[in-house]
Amino acid sequence: MSNLFINATKQLENAAKLLNLNKSVLEILKNPKRILEVSIPVEMDSGEVKVFKGYRSQYNDALGPFKGGIRFHPKVNLSEVKALSAWMTWKCAVIGLPLGGGKGGIIVNPKELSNKEIEKLSRGYVCALKDFIGPEKDIPAPDVYTTPQIMAWMMDEFSKIKGYNVPGVVTGKPVEIGGAQGRNFSTAQGGIYVLEKAVKKLKMDSKKTTVAIQGFGNAGSFMAKILSALGYNVVAVSDSKGGVKLSRKFIKSKVHKVKSRKLRCLDIKNVIKFKKETGSVIGFPGTETITNEQLLELDVDILVPAALENVITEHNAGQIKAKLIIELANGPVTPQADVKLEKKKIVIAPDILANAGGVIVSYFEWVQNLQNYYWTEKENIEKLKTIIERSFDEVWAKKECLNISMRLAAYAVAVERVAKAEELRRGI
Ligand code: GLU
Repeated sequence: MSNLFINATKQLENAAKLLNLNKSVLEILKNPKRILEVSIPVEMDSGEVKVFKGYRSQYNDALGPFKGGIRFHPKVNLSEVKALSAWMTWKCAVIGLPLGGGKGGIIVNPKELSNKEIEKLSRGYVCALKDFIGPEKDIPAPDVYTTPQIMAWMMDEFSKIKGYNVPGVVTGKPVEIGGAQGRNFSTAQGGIYVLEKAVKKLKMDSKKTTVAIQGFGNAGSFMAKILSALGYNVVAVSDSKGGVKLSRKFIKSKVHKVKSRKLRCLDIKNVIKFKKETGSVIGFPGTETITNEQLLELDVDILVPAALENVITEHNAGQIKAKLIIELANGPVTPQADVKLEKKKIVIAPDILANAGGVIVSYFEWVQNLQNYYWTEKENIEKLKTIIERSFDEVWAKKECLNISMRLAAYAVAVERVAKAEELRRGI
């Protein structure tokens, strides 16, 4: 994971070359505007004090305040946080949001902490960064292993410091305290709109299309659920412990029915139930156990990496069989793998577009918090659809016009917008 920022810089440079970008502007765009590193002491349940390391990378705010999630993960490191903050910048720009990009992280395995300890850690992070975040400065949100409850604690802590309620300091909050309706499934929903557009372009038929999804967290599990309701055949899923694929015997026996159609796919509603009860998808009836690596190489039509970065590299790119990859995770494909996949004519809907549904509804949440006027779930999701489909069309048109990959097209659109803002503001 340590080379992640190198990957992000490479992607920026590819776009800069295509755009023939001004050298001074490129220099500005290659560097995060501010990096914060904090130590957060937490009194653990045992009475012992542990100090956790936290980061916030504020990459670029030319188009608006820094925006992006905070992840709690044992493998968090500065290179990763910097890369993720750069990707947030391009994500907000390609979608056309008036927001910049940032990202934060704490080196911690939240599964080893009690609720009380996680609460103290979340409050401590906000305390340490209080002068640098806020609705007009930098607006954090959930990411890997951070939840609406954690956002509630962070909002509460910031509000206490200020002495009044500041709901707009973070997004992804519970609906009861200013969260946006539909934010919980918005990343997956945005991914669905992108997937359906791509499926149409590639003339695929949903009923005959098989899908494998890596990652069964918020994004992956909602993606599986919605896809399955739409009639796609989700045949393999995985979580951090490993994966399952529909067993051949099971396909032949056609023993189950989902509504009226014969089950040639996993019964996702029951997989979700099973994972809730047992803690993993492994062992779901009628499946064979596979590894996360094997899942990526399955003979399916669509592959959805929805977990962590750098899972498709130059080492396994040759084995990927899917025709379409929807990047619901941030940075799942390395630039070296990109080159190999492009040669194989595999279409990749890039992360900065495919997983933008989350930050789009986060943007709605922030707007609603600032106005104190709240929209329905239907309004949020309809607006999400309009925005993400329009962005898809812009990216697709550029890809077709210049005969380039979707990733390069998306970067070209995004980088051009941020570069223009920098040029106008600085008079370069
Ligand atoms: N962590 C999410 C992402 O990577 C959401 C960020 C946000 O809502 O600000 O896009």
